[in-house]
Amino acid sequence: MEKKNLDWKNLGFAYIQTDKRYVSNYKDGKWDDGALIDDPNIVMNECAGVLQYAQTVFEGMKAYTTEDGHIVTFRPDLNASRMVDSAKRLEMPVFPEERFVDAVVQTVKANAAYVPPYGSGATLYIRPYMFGINPVIGVKPADEYQFRVFTTPVGPYFKGGVKPITICVSDFDRAAPHGTGHIKAGLNYAMSLHAIVTAHANGFDENMYLDSATRTKVEETGGANFLFVTKDNKIVTPHSTTILPSITRRSLMYVAEHYLGLEVEERDVYFDEVKDFAECGLCGTAAVISPVGKVVNHGEEICFPSGMEKMGPTIQKLYDTLTGIQMGHIEAPEGWLKVIE
Ligand SMILES: *Cc1c(COP(=O)(O)O)cnc(C)c1O
Repeated sequence: MEKKNLDWKNLGFAYIQTDKRYVSNYKDGKWDDGALIDDPNIVMNECAGVLQYAQTVFEGMKAYTTEDGHIVTFRPDLNASRMVDSAKRLEMPVFPEERFVDAVVQTVKANAAYVPPYGSGATLYIRPYMFGINPVIGVKPADEYQFRVFTTPVGPYFKGGVKPITICVSDFDRAAPHGTGHIKAGLNYAMSLHAIVTAHANGFDENMYLDSATRTKVEETGGANFLFVTKDNKIVTPHSTTILPSITRRSLMYVAEHYLGLEVEERDVYFDEVKDFAECGLCGTAAVISPVGKVVNHGEEICFPSGMEKMGPTIQKLYDTLTGIQMGHIEAPEGWLKVIE
């Protein structure tokens, strides 16, 4: 298969239209068979449920080329089951998990010419999503839904080397107790836009959100989970029912324990103890781990010993091991890599 002639190494993170997308419609209580189509545009009624009451959920994942030339995705079964949880919380019908994985495979195969070559650092970003499409004006769940998957090639996350970032403790809240912080839904992002624009305007890369009930515990950023390394080299990640369960973070915790032999803890992390950690990173599909060099809380700075020049040693090991597994240099645990072709 002939690859598209794209400047892989210099792609950013922006939408680039690819050839095919997958669509399945839900009507009269059931999903249709689904198909790959050409048209990237969606025509819907002006009163569609998603437009009025934001009934939509999504997933984010990547396909890439391994060293031996296969196209793979990473743990798509976990994206499928997370989308089930998201859909249920917004009173949407469940898109069956096996069909989700099949739709991803079909869409990536149909756009294989856009999967960046091994070694470029670029990947094919995959966006499965689902939304209420029939007219809804009284507040209630839609009756008809559309499930879609599109792909878009994206460049290497760390262009020109890894640079630790500076984050600030946000004055805004991300998730209410018993709210929707644990699901992957556009609504959590819409309300985070003001907070991130404010953080950027103040010179910070990201927000650290604290638990909104007590404002004493670390939750996550707008789109990535925290992972900390203690001075005695334990891996600690916040436990909370209001953070989004990152697949990358769960995979890194497994790698820490089973590949690197480190002690791991998922527990309450109080903001007061952040100053005592040796390293800090943000985990998500986009970067795998993005190192944090500094946390600023209303002018008070916490600088991690790992500094502002490079990843700390333990986060670097975690990063190298997980990306090694993803790229096929290191043997993956059973079921982690889904070979597409
Ligand atoms: C998607 C997302 C993450 C990262 O999850 P991954 O499965 O690792 O990509 C973290 N936090 C939020 C709020 C998210 O939406």
